[in-house]
Amino acid sequence: MFAVAIDGPAGAGKSTIARKVAADLSIIYVDTGAMYRAIGAYALKKGLDPHSREQVTPLLPEIRLELNHSPEEGQRIFLNGQDVSEQIRLPEMSMAASAVSAIPEVRAFLLEQQRSLARRQSVIMDGRDIGTVVLPQAEVKIFLTAAAEERARRRWKEYQEKGLPDSYEAILADVIQRDEQDKNRPIAPLRQAEDAVLLDTTGLNFAQSVEKVKEIIRERVADVL
Ligand code: C5P
Repeated sequence: MFAVAIDGPAGAGKSTIARKVAADLSIIYVDTGAMYRAIGAYALKKGLDPHSREQVTPLLPEIRLELNHSPEEGQRIFLNGQDVSEQIRLPEMSMAASAVSAIPEVRAFLLEQQRSLARRQSVIMDGRDIGTVVLPQAEVKIFLTAAAEERARRRWKEYQEKGLPDSYEAILADVIQRDEQDKNRPIAPLRQAEDAVLLDTTGLNFAQSVEKVKEIIRERVADVL
């Protein structure tokens, strides 16, 4: 069994790359951002302010998250029994996720759930604090990044394909604001673990990025395909 921790800023391609690498290596992909998004979505649904520690913390005992994995559909996330996998991808959910993720009780609530997923099986887990906080013993740690403009361009393309109207400028502003929020928060700020490999995907296409990640894993874990 082994664990691969992938951290990095919004839009670096972590989830699409990790999903493909997981499928190729027949291991489980755990998208921790989806867990923060689900909690943000729940706060918004309740009409509460996702920035407010006082409002969000009392909700946690009511929240049950389940991650299901199937080879066809990949990871699906269920919030109190309801599949919210699509809903949490809406643009307003990104900010709500970033807001709740700065609340210490929210991070503590998810930490144990995330660790226990990696105890049972080989995983590739992505987020902001996987190599530094969640899985400090991970065999492989990668800090995946790309220039902000490139990350915004990729997200813009993704939104276009889904028919979402957000402009490139608005997305770039969102990417930059989220980076700032994630890097400067006092608890579990986004930073590269000392023993993480830095992988900058600016100028690399998807297939090249996947290949690089697999190369890094192969160098560190014996018997990987
Ligand atoms: O990766 P994704 O964009 O889905 O994450 C949404 C937000 O959740 C991020 O902006 C970040 O603030 C937060 N997050 C986090 N720690 C993680 C994963 C996500 O703080 N491990």
